[in-house]
Amino acid sequence: MELNILTVCYLIASVTFILGLKMLSNPASARKGNLLAAAGMTIAILGTIFLYESDGKRLGNYVWIFGGLLIGGIIGTLAAKKIKMTAMPEMVSMFNGMGGACAALISIVEFNHLSHEMEISGITTGHTGKVLIIVLGLIIGSVSFAGSMIAWGKLNGKVKDFSFTGQNILNLLILAVALSAGAYLVYDPTQHFLLYGILALALVYGVFFVMPIGGADMPVVISLLNSFTGVAAACGGFLYDNKVMLTGGILVGAAGTLLTILMCKAMNRSLQNVLIGSFGGSKTAGAAGSTSQGLYKEISLADTAMLMSYANKVMIVPGYGLAVAQAQHVCHELEKILEEKGVEVKYAIHPVAGRMPGHMNVLLAESDVSYEKLLEMENANDEFKTCDVVLILGANDVVNPAAKNDPASPIYGMPILEVEFAKNVIVNKRSMKPGYAGIENDLFFQPKTSMLFGDAKKVLQDICAEVKMV
Ligand code: NDP
Repeated sequence: MELNILTVCYLIASVTFILGLKMLSNPASARKGNLLAAAGMTIAILGTIFLYESDGKRLGNYVWIFGGLLIGGIIGTLAAKKIKMTAMPEMVSMFNGMGGACAALISIVEFNHLSHEMEISGITTGHTGKVLIIVLGLIIGSVSFAGSMIAWGKLNGKVKDFSFTGQNILNLLILAVALSAGAYLVYDPTQHFLLYGILALALVYGVFFVMPIGGADMPVVISLLNSFTGVAAACGGFLYDNKVMLTGGILVGAAGTLLTILMCKAMNRSLQNVLIGSFGGSKTAGAAGSTSQGLYKEISLADTAMLMSYANKVMIVPGYGLAVAQAQHVCHELEKILEEKGVEVKYAIHPVAGRMPGHMNVLLAESDVSYEKLLEMENANDEFKTCDVVLILGANDVVNPAAKNDPASPIYGMPILEVEFAKNVIVNKRSMKPGYAGIENDLFFQPKTSMLFGDAKKVLQDICAEVKMV
């Protein structure tokens, strides 16, 4: 009877995961979707703790379980509350890495159980399927953990891109040795020491795999690692014959894979190119230090306000700097003030603007900007030619024409927002420094472009005040 209740719990949880994921695809329902899936996860966890039985025995160990839940819950809540919006991708990487580590630990624990069973029973055959899943969970989980930790370090600037000649070959070699050792362990599960060898190799592979990837390719790597963690968790679901873990893992794996493909498409890069292309190595680092290709002109706040007030249509291009400045609310205020003056205002959203997928949508949703005003890149590109003013707020790489014009540029081929088709382009940032990819931006030196230096929030507040006076 209780087992049936547990199955119902798992079914409810699985349904909430699927619905939650669906709701996450729209900013309007994303928050509810997240809560729904979290409620489902709570049901699954409590159901497992109180109703799961193995050999007629409940889990027990309640002090350990609830102690762990309490400590993890407190750390997770505090981290999520404290984290700044701009540091979200770092947190996602860290949490993702923890998921990978859990999957790897499950493999280690379960292999130790199996070894113990084999020792007691003396039967060492008939475990092929189980050991295969253990090995897969270990390799994928460890790669995901190590890779996510490096991605976390890169996103917060603590880890620099690093690559050396022959790194790809060495990586493939490490992976091949890990897989071969895994295959041997499946063949002969008494070779316990191999498990730790595989763990070490997978961790080294995870580090080397992410180390050379950088610059604008990071979003792809993060979503790929996310999908790895999902697959590793699904392996845990197989091991424990736990349907909800399997469903959750598969959903994360599939969603991460789809996101990876979409991100690659958004950047017009193949996955292979991202993984072995070493974006952002020494080439981009050098470009970041070099200065200018010419003269740029500046525009005053008063002139900006004048230009925008008398425009028919203004397109705002938000980027990472808007998030840093936390200027989304004042940006929405500017939109309302302009609309009161009869100016049409829209937002052009690049898929990799900011530091996480959907960053700009989430940011603008926070300040109640209407979703209809957010144009996806293709639609925005169709509309730039009808815009009198484009106001770029802390965006850089996503409007860099080098992606179209300079085959030598590391971002060549990435679709960008083609702001240069508008009549006037105003760029707000604090300096002439490059963006995330570390490359200079020709747009700043084009005749139509004017620079408006300053922190996005302060600049927007001042523009609002000026526009009110026009
Ligand atoms: P960029 O990182 O290219 O540029 C942001 C610009 O904002 C900088 O040039 C900076 O210039 C400016 N800035 C920073 N702080 C402020 C501030 N307070 N006020 C005004 N301006 C500010 O951002 P984009 O959004 O254009 O591009 C995103 C980049 O991040 C892409 O390369 C993308 O691949 C990468 N990325 C994206 C992820 C995603 O999932 N979306 C994840 C990881 C990386 P200055 O210092 O002069 O002010």
